[in-house]
Amino acid sequence: MANPHNPVCRLCRREGVKLFLKGEKCVGDRCTFTKRNATPPGQHGLARRRRISEYGIQLRAKQRGRRVYGVMETQFRNYFERASAGKGVTGTALLQMLEQRLDNVVYRAGFASSRAEARQLVSHRHFQVDGKVVNIPSYQVRPGQVVQVRPGHQEKEPVTRSVAFRAGQAVPSWLSLYPEELRVDVVRLPERGEMETSIDEQLIVEYYSR
Ligand code: SF4
Repeated sequence: MANPHNPVCRLCRREGVKLFLKGEKCVGDRCTFTKRNATPPGQHGLARRRRISEYGIQLRAKQRGRRVYGVMETQFRNYFERASAGKGVTGTALLQMLEQRLDNVVYRAGFASSRAEARQLVSHRHFQVDGKVVNIPSYQVRPGQVVQVRPGHQEKEPVTRSVAFRAGQAVPSWLSLYPEELRVDVVRLPERGEMETSIDEQLIVEYYSR
């Protein structure tokens, strides 16, 4: 059962939205966020609700984006700076870079129950990209590349458990899944509607543009 004092679950209550950080525990009535009716963390969560400034709204949007993808502050800022230096729409480019992370692709493909678990599976060398082992969760996967569970690792317990949990769940159409081979091809970059809807990228851009 999800522990209400679990620091990970507190992040969901802090952001006021389910961030799905604990995989199987996030589904159904075991979720702390659902059980506690989304009150902010702390003994007097409801009483502590107060008017929030424009800066506070932008800060919360940025924190939510960081926490959804499990990225540290410095790295998140680096993503923003690279996105703003490009030719496209900064907010969309930022989200695309986050979606292109190898741990996110593994999660989106249904090979892990959460991005945190995907990060661990990648770090433990269970995946390859275009036939080469990659153990860097932040690795940017490009269209045309193939991500696959390594031969010999397809029957290993952490992989089989995660795959079984996500079996049958929808995979976004920018990815092409071959479940028998535990393989996913990146067909193209994701469009806005195929990325996280709980994140307001414009507020994140405003936060870093202050
Ligand atoms: Fe905890 Fe997951 Fe529920 Fe968030 S969504 S509160 S991480 S169980």
